[in-house]
Amino acid sequence: MRQAIAALPDILISQIAAGEVVERPASVVKEVLENAIDAGSSAIIIRLEEGGCQRISIQDDGQGIRHSELHLAVQRHATSKIRSLRDLESVGSLGFRGEALASIASVSRLSITTRTSDDDHAWQINVNGGQTMSEVSPSSGPTGTTIDVQDLYFNTPARRKFLKSASTELGHCLDVIRRIALSRPDIAFAIWHNGKVLERWAHGNIEQRVDAILGKEFHEARIPLESISGPLTLRGFISQPTASRARADQQFSYVNGRFIRDKVVQHAIRSAYQDVLHGDRQPMIVLALDIDPNLVDVNVHPAKTEVRFREGGAVHQFIYKAIQNALGTSVGQINRTSDATPENFTNGLGQSTLSSTPAWRPPTSNQYLPLSQNQKSSIDSFFSNINNSEKLHAETYYGTANDTTDLPLGHALAQIHGIYILAQNQHGLVLVDMHAAHERVLYEKLKQDLATGIKVQQLLVPIVMHASELEVSKAEDHRHTLETLGFDVATLSPTQLAIRTIPTLLQRAEPVGLLINLLSELDLTGSKAVIDAAQHERLATQACHAAVRAHRTLTLTEMDALLRQMEQTERADQCNHGRPTWVQLSIQDLDKLFLRGR
Ligand code: ADP
Ligand code: MG
Repeated sequence: MRQAIAALPDILISQIAAGEVVERPASVVKEVLENAIDAGSSAIIIRLEEGGCQRISIQDDGQGIRHSELHLAVQRHATSKIRSLRDLESVGSLGFRGEALASIASVSRLSITTRTSDDDHAWQINVNGGQTMSEVSPSSGPTGTTIDVQDLYFNTPARRKFLKSASTELGHCLDVIRRIALSRPDIAFAIWHNGKVLERWAHGNIEQRVDAILGKEFHEARIPLESISGPLTLRGFISQPTASRARADQQFSYVNGRFIRDKVVQHAIRSAYQDVLHGDRQPMIVLALDIDPNLVDVNVHPAKTEVRFREGGAVHQFIYKAIQNALGTSVGQINRTSDATPENFTNGLGQSTLSSTPAWRPPTSNQYLPLSQNQKSSIDSFFSNINNSEKLHAETYYGTANDTTDLPLGHALAQIHGIYILAQNQHGLVLVDMHAAHERVLYEKLKQDLATGIKVQQLLVPIVMHASELEVSKAEDHRHTLETLGFDVATLSPTQLAIRTIPTLLQRAEPVGLLINLLSELDLTGSKAVIDAAQHERLATQACHAAVRAHRTLTLTEMDALLRQMEQTERADQCNHGRPTWVQLSIQDLDKLFLRGR
């Protein structure tokens, strides 16, 4: 039976819009904070109850709302921020759609208390599920605005069910607050939850705010970046490759003050780090791009987290170059022959500038665990192997051992403090970080081995696991792919699977969890990235554990063998964590150190 067409009532329209704008308490926090910032606030207090599900109250000291306009603030498509399409094209405020407060009001109990500097007292309006409860009435309070949102989704129970636990929702709220606070260090923030203070960030500069929010790890790894080109300015901090993370959860990018997730920006960041970060490691970044508002469209997404650049290619290139330069100047893009600046080394006359060079730190993972007996013998066998076979190979490849001039990394002369190898090549002196170099060599070799085929471990007793009917049917659909990945999975019943083989490399991983992840990923994207990532991570750990520790004495033959291995290994110039594995000091560099020829 066909129903007649009818225009929807206003409240329903707002409730539908709320579906996009108000996804969860964190989205309310975001919209309300953006309004506070647009109002020119200098201090904002955020009070949450039960992760924001019960109550979100945000107080600012901004310009307030005139009481004659207060009823408009909660009306759909009413805004003080734009007046025309032209304004939209060059919008400078965070808001402009005029629908946030109306959407929030339609799915909660909202009260706004506000006072402008012209008012003798504050004014208040109350809206319940979109229905204005009373006329605007006198109230009390300081200049500024307090938006109080209670019982989110009280009138839309279906949506309320989608809310997660209070702690999960609180986590999302804090993420949103951090993103916004990072972009505005000039605004002070205080965050309360269930009556207790969680955070207080005072006014300050960007360094102070970044340190307050991202903590010590980023503080120690951050490289400042500033780059300007025509209408584009990029400012912020990026992490040394050493401080990479497994997830991209510490990447904050802004376009004209707005936190955004943008493919162009993300891709530029990834590409710039590609040479110095292996596999799926992710850098930490806080980067603000300022661009002529006419060159970017911010009206792409109701939550305004996406933008569209008029010249995406140019923006990509600009960000890519800026990051590469910043990384280059810091890592000292090791130049094989000339650029090792002797000014950065002590010259024996006490004119040390060493402390100003970046201090490389060991990666945060538990890298330097003591070696097991097993690993020790595997190192020894590695060296005896290369002593016998690889050295022969190296000689035929590079000529005889005396032929120093032809070997890129030269010949080992000595070992210093059990950490560095000192070698001589035709340009001068080569210094090698023994552990880092060996680790890289092993990692690349393990990756090569992996590429030639997955080794499979037959399980004596198959692992029987419960699975949903959906998962069981996915396992059947992807049976063949799973097998090529080393998982032989059989269906026992509509809700039971048996894992009969697993990839040998992942035998210490948790096979059930891995399989479930793999199934959902295969189904969603058809990709096996989870497995690749897990395997590469295993390989990296294996390489690290098997690589020679510091303080192990090597013979000259062993050292030479390692140098030859490095020469033959792709990407051997940097260790798995992005640190250099070797540096060159040319004769000229050495001369400069001793002020020779001046
Ligand atoms: P938008 O921000 O897109 O304009 P909103 O629904 O978020 O739409 O807000 C509607 C209007 O209410 C804003 O244009 C602004 O004039 C006013 N407003 C909202 N919050 C505040 C605040 N904290 N301080 C001053 N004015 C506010
Ligand atoms: Mg707004």
